[in-house]
Amino acid sequence: MPREQTWQAVQGQATWDVCVVGGGATGLGTALDAATRGYSVVLAEAEDFASGASSRSSKMLHGGVRYLQQLDFALVKEALHERANVLANAPHVAQVLPFVIPCASLAHAAFYGSGLKLYDLLAGRRNVGCSHLLSSKQVMAQARALRPSAHGIQYYDGLFDDARLAQSIARSARQRGAVLMNYCRADIRGQADDGAALITLSRKDTAEQHSLRARCTIFATGAWSGERVAVARGSHIVLPDIGLSSGVLLPKTPDGRVLFLLPWQGHTLIGTTDIAVSQPDYLDTAPPEDIDWLLRTASQALQQPLTPSQVSASFVGYRPLVRPPGAHKNSSQFSRAHLVERTAERSLRVVGGKWTTYRRMAQDVLDAAIAHGILSPAAPCSTADLALSPNPLLDHAWQTQGQWSDAQLQQFVASAVQDEAACTADDVLYRRLRTGFTDQALAQTLRPQVERWLKTRLSAG
Ligand SMILES: Cc1cc2nc3c(=O)[nH]c(=O)nc-3n(C[C@H](O)[C@H](O)[C@H](O)COP(=O)(O)OP(=O)(O)OC[C@H]3O[C@@H](n4cnc5c(N)ncnc54)[C@H](O)[C@@H]3O)c2cc1C
Repeated sequence: MPREQTWQAVQGQATWDVCVVGGGATGLGTALDAATRGYSVVLAEAEDFASGASSRSSKMLHGGVRYLQQLDFALVKEALHERANVLANAPHVAQVLPFVIPCASLAHAAFYGSGLKLYDLLAGRRNVGCSHLLSSKQVMAQARALRPSAHGIQYYDGLFDDARLAQSIARSARQRGAVLMNYCRADIRGQADDGAALITLSRKDTAEQHSLRARCTIFATGAWSGERVAVARGSHIVLPDIGLSSGVLLPKTPDGRVLFLLPWQGHTLIGTTDIAVSQPDYLDTAPPEDIDWLLRTASQALQQPLTPSQVSASFVGYRPLVRPPGAHKNSSQFSRAHLVERTAERSLRVVGGKWTTYRRMAQDVLDAAIAHGILSPAAPCSTADLALSPNPLLDHAWQTQGQWSDAQLQQFVASAVQDEAACTADDVLYRRLRTGFTDQALAQTLRPQVERWLKTRLSAG
């Protein structure tokens, strides 16, 4: 739906059942779940959809092998269940990926192997592949860039395109009547006599404002959730493929952090750092010190050390970690469990968790709204086996990146604007086509063409 029509739809209704604040994975998932249950839904995202953490993740659908060490088996089991749901419901942007853990000795292999057997067990019949021992030769066949190791362990998780999955959820929500407005901030201004929240929406592009009433307001503002969350900066670098057909997990880097090297969109994605910061932002590239740490640490596991000139893109995201009361420990030790809490008579917050568990977070917050009597009961949650709607043109565009003709680019921009509410060249190049996340120089080269087609499209309305 063209943007102005979306804005008219926002203005066309005075009272909504559900107003979702935040258009990342959690907010979009909540909008889809609510619309599927039959509620009227409006969602406001201050910037572009998925411009926060939800386009800047490590792209893994996972239970979190490392959280086994925290002995939080219920959390891992829930995430493994959700991993299977996303793989089944969004095969156009999510696939199973084999992973390798290089092991220096049989004792190491036995240690990681037993943990991963537990991982398999927790996934139960929804497991996506059984872990097993690999010989040194088998490790090299899957990850020839690695230094030789005595053994390896193979296990399986999912790999996905986060920003494209966000668009898929958004499209599925729109198809069920949800009205989703990007570049539009939401602020609660007060409460009506019947308890409904009075909310002001402010458009970033035109500065227009509109006030509405919501029976239930759900904050899904991720790292922008104030005191409730500790914020951790996670950076990634992307290089032309260094020779990986499987993902690689380095469970113990010299300073104790976990590092992943993944084959993603024809490139190698390496991440991530985990550094406590006071607040999030929307910066595109990672800080130089994070890039340096990633290059140095990954190089220790590789035959050929990596150099800064190989880095074709970098990005940074901010994890919203639910802050335990009085917590002082390192943020990497905070649980990845999500939190649903009531913040006012008719408002709830849903925060924390993982991309992998976005659907469950949405289900939990809406169930809580019903349990608190904020929403009247409607149809039960049905998103666990709801196939998400693809956009074949844009979902697969990355496969021919670098060979796009001007006419193709024109088509991409048209679909990004018409079907996915793109407003700026960055929306198109970073979050619709993903070029800015794999090859920032190419994104710069394409920018003038994209801007030209964008102008034509946006002025056509
Ligand atoms: C570096 C990194 C790596 C990760 N890797 C993985 C991984 O491999 N697998 C996995 O499952 N998870 C991963 N995660 C976690 C996952 O990315 C996040 O849990 C998830 O994206 C959070 O989604 P969200 O919608 O809650 O937050 P966000 O995506 O940050 O969305 C919140 C949105 O709220 C908007 N907002 C804030 N205030 C307002 C307002 N007043 N009005 C309107 N909008 C507002 C913001 O603009 C933002 O877009 C990773 C996270 C990071 C940072």
